[in-house]
Amino acid sequence: MMTKKYSGDILIVDDKPNNLRFLSTTLTEQGYKVRSVTDGLMALTVAQAANPDLILLDIMMPNVDGYEVCQRLKADEQTQNIPVIFLSALDEVIDKVKAFSVGGVDYITKPFQLDEVLARIQTHLSLRAAQREIRQLNVELEQRVKQRTAQLEQEISERLQAQERLLHLALHDVLTGLPNRTWFMKRLEQLLQQVNQASSYQFAVLFLDCDRFQSVNDSLGHLVGDQLLVSIARRIELCLRPDTTFCRLGGDEFTILLQNVNARSEPVNLAKKILKELAAPFQVGSYQVFTNVSIGIVIGSDVYKQPEHILRDADTAMYRAKANGKACYQIFEQPMHSHALHNFQLESELRVAIEQNQFETYYQPIVAIGDRQISSFEALVRWHHPQAGLVMPNSFIPIAEEMGAVVAIDLFVLRQACQQLRNWQTEGLIDETVTMSVNLSVRHFMTFDLLTQIDSVLAETGIKGSSLRLEITERAIMENAELAARIIDQLQHRHIQLSIDDFGTGYSSLSYLHRLPIEQLKIDRSFIIRIGKNGKNTEIITAIIALAKSLNMSVIAEGVETQDQLDQLNNLGCKFCQGYIFSKPVDADTARKLLIAGF
Ligand code: C2E
Ligand code: MG
Ligand code: MG
Repeated sequence: MMTKKYSGDILIVDDKPNNLRFLSTTLTEQGYKVRSVTDGLMALTVAQAANPDLILLDIMMPNVDGYEVCQRLKADEQTQNIPVIFLSALDEVIDKVKAFSVGGVDYITKPFQLDEVLARIQTHLSLRAAQREIRQLNVELEQRVKQRTAQLEQEISERLQAQERLLHLALHDVLTGLPNRTWFMKRLEQLLQQVNQASSYQFAVLFLDCDRFQSVNDSLGHLVGDQLLVSIARRIELCLRPDTTFCRLGGDEFTILLQNVNARSEPVNLAKKILKELAAPFQVGSYQVFTNVSIGIVIGSDVYKQPEHILRDADTAMYRAKANGKACYQIFEQPMHSHALHNFQLESELRVAIEQNQFETYYQPIVAIGDRQISSFEALVRWHHPQAGLVMPNSFIPIAEEMGAVVAIDLFVLRQACQQLRNWQTEGLIDETVTMSVNLSVRHFMTFDLLTQIDSVLAETGIKGSSLRLEITERAIMENAELAARIIDQLQHRHIQLSIDDFGTGYSSLSYLHRLPIEQLKIDRSFIIRIGKNGKNTEIITAIIALAKSLNMSVIAEGVETQDQLDQLNNLGCKFCQGYIFSKPVDADTARKLLIAGF
């Protein structure tokens, strides 16, 4: 086997020139690069300057002996790694021990055996080479570890950032930046765990739903809707303490969690504050929009075991607030839950009803008080419920409005009523002055294809626009006066008349009345009921009639039941009325008989 031969620089230190020469010559012949010096101090200087691979060092020297040279070499960082082999005629164990203890790596006794010297030199050169290699490898390894660590740190921080972003996205709403439903439910869950340990702890959840937000979206577009939502969120934030949890649940729904609630007045006061804050109009782009929220409040305690149930009850209370006239709050009470269940069932039944067309239009005559002639009919929807029988509109129209299903119902009634009017016309029972009044829900009124739908119904049934009246509430106009004005203008082009239904119960702003081409006001039944003996409690009716007269509108009194009411209305100058005194709403056959028989 060939062993590798290590070359190297060797420094020989010996005070005997003969020794020096011999070794120097021999080693040079062997291919080593050799330097030689004759005293210890010289040795230190050369070692520092030339950094040899190996030093052969004599022990017994004048001035500085070999041991001390070795000690100094080892103390100096620059030279400490150079292996030192001692050369000496001393052959006592104690000398050898000392030689190793000052840092020598080997010991050769004079007179030398050349082979031994060469073999030892080779051994130590190879060791030195190996050490160097190891040191180099270590340096490289350290560098690589450093690089990799830096890389890893970078990767980890990037990954953490990405994870944080994802987590943020998963738990927040992009539009408003508020925490979202997932976050809220998690928060509620944590809270319930806490509450179940300390049973006296109370909290409150407020469920906020924007009123009539859908009509903003429908009429002004989603972009405006989005902007409005952000503005609403920011205003609500103004009402909250910094530590209050406020989330966007989705759509136009928000939730607030109040912790550590001691009294009902706390969430109630907050609700009032929010309602007040939102009452001022919103400027969204070039539009001024009025909107508010309906707020359901749940006072939470250890009664609740599941977050979903809290939200369900808050939602139920919110719907009750909506039904109570919107822009108000309602605290959840247990009976509301069964009511909500009932509504839920009603919704699914309504869907079936629309699919299977379980509706029928009833007609109630509107009578001219002077000659008791039928001047018009109001079309009123009825639902033939397979189990419950005839269901009145007040118990399903509001829910149909919430579901968005009211449009289908209104269209059905519009078509059927127009067809009916046409039939009576062709039968010769009425002339074209007798009109048909059809109710339109607010939501329907605001949809853009309303006019197209009306046009096609008029075309299908062949009745004139002037034979049709649409009844809408003040709300429909006030909620979006600009759009309403445009639609009303279009209706006027078709000679379709417009009545304000339930007049006096809605918004009190009258400024729109003289700006819009409205033909008729229907005085709400609540004012008619109040008519007392000898003209008592008729101030509002008097005022409405005067208002209508000055604006060139006609007036219909709704819900007239008694002769006394009829007389007084007549005295006040009201020309038309509708009520049980003449007829309840009846089916088409019965209405036909009324047309023939009269009153
Ligand atoms: P409304 O448009 O104000 O209709 C008048 C309501 O007063 C009718 O109730 C009518 O039956 C009732 N009424 C008339 N005269 C008297 C009276 O002398 N005494 C009493 N106690 N009540 C009288 P109805 O048919 O139950 O309809 C209730 C409401 O449901 C309507 O109020 C209207 O807002 C809505 N509605 C009815 N049909 C439709 C429809 O097709 N579409 C829409 N969107 N809403 C409808
Ligand atoms: Mg009506
Ligand atoms: Mg009415």
